[in-house]
Amino acid sequence: VQQAVTRISEPDLAPVRLPAVVGADLEVPVRGGRLVQYANLDYAASAPCLEPVNAAVAAALPAYSSVHRGAGYASQLTTARYEQARHTVRAFVGARPGDALIFVRNTTDALNLLARSLPEGTTAVVFETEHHASLLPWQNAVRLAPPAFPGEAIRAADEALAAIDGPALLVVTAASNVTGELWPIAGLAHIAHRHGARIVVDAAQLVPHRELNLAALDLDYVAFSGHKLYAPFGAGVLVGRPDWLACADPYLRGGGAVQAVGETTEWSDDPQARHEAGTPNVLGAIALAAACDALTATGWTALVRDEERLLARLRAGLAAIPGVRELSLWGQDHPRVGIVSFTVEGRTAREVAEAVSADWGIGVRDGKFCAHPFVRHLLGGGEDGAQEDGGCADGTFSAVRASVGIGTTTEHVDRLVEALREIATT
Ligand code: PLP
Repeated sequence: VQQAVTRISEPDLAPVRLPAVVGADLEVPVRGGRLVQYANLDYAASAPCLEPVNAAVAAALPAYSSVHRGAGYASQLTTARYEQARHTVRAFVGARPGDALIFVRNTTDALNLLARSLPEGTTAVVFETEHHASLLPWQNAVRLAPPAFPGEAIRAADEALAAIDGPALLVVTAASNVTGELWPIAGLAHIAHRHGARIVVDAAQLVPHRELNLAALDLDYVAFSGHKLYAPFGAGVLVGRPDWLACADPYLRGGGAVQAVGETTEWSDDPQARHEAGTPNVLGAIALAAACDALTATGWTALVRDEERLLARLRAGLAAIPGVRELSLWGQDHPRVGIVSFTVEGRTAREVAEAVSADWGIGVRDGKFCAHPFVRHLLGGGEDGAQEDGGCADGTFSAVRASVGIGTTTEHVDRLVEALREIATT
């Protein structure tokens, strides 16, 4: 466990005190058998656990017991902790009174649950820039081409929604998992509501980096995963309007989701019970809530300031290397979270990712980031293999992604830049 670090962000700014992350002192072997401290620059895939999250799970384990149905003390205590976790996560995202919060496995699960809960005849409108988790669950979706600027996203959604007869749902990711760019979700919510439609926001990459307030932004639903929010794998949430969920057939059928079972089955009309059949991931929910608490206690001003410092350093370093090209939909100046994807001329993304791991002990991601249409668009490619200027030496479209967060150090960023300089120039 890393000691909590006090980092001086800028000479004239107050120190930023961040929570410690578990595993910050992990050492990994590099070529030649030497051990180096691991530089984890793959937060957008899964972020490391925060120490307060680790502590919350350890504190919950001694009274570990099944929730909701036991009269025993441990069961009551665990139930209280589970429901407290729901309460904490609701507050974290600024849920309205009456909004449902359903604990699920992850963002993918949350969006699939919503897709199965849409009223008959609902048309989903989705941008091609989405992660597959928010691109694929919808039946017969209207797909919108990548917009050339934020205002065009709003215009395209406006036109698409105007052409739809009947209920509609606009689907949008708040922060891109490929470029980190922030989407105009407040404007899109406004447009959706003007057409009587609803909006769901995939906030998987937003919530670890920025404050999200569902009520203030007037969003109908948000979905995100605990494992990108400094908690372990296996817990995520769908938060939002209860009515569709309260009527939808549960896609997980079993204990807890029912009011009565006889000749017929009477499903619970509480959407939370209805869609949380079986024994839930109690520790996952407690961990997720502990992460929310830790971020809130740290404060968004400090978190954003520290991340922006690291991101600026990384981007400036990349920009100074000949042959390294950063990907962006809306230009280098558009606001983004701590995620940067890039190509290195003359090298495949896989070569680069393998080299920085094998020689420098750095973890980055390479590939298409579960966003094939978007990455293809960014790299100017047609079908796989027909890319024109993506800079991938093997002719396929893929890129390297580096992402930062709590626990990332200046040394990690500098090590990556140094490694890339060497790879790009030798
Ligand atoms: N949406 C976005 C924007 C993501 O980045 C990811 C994961 O990379 C997902 C959805 C899917 O998250 P999960 O794998 O936790 O379901």
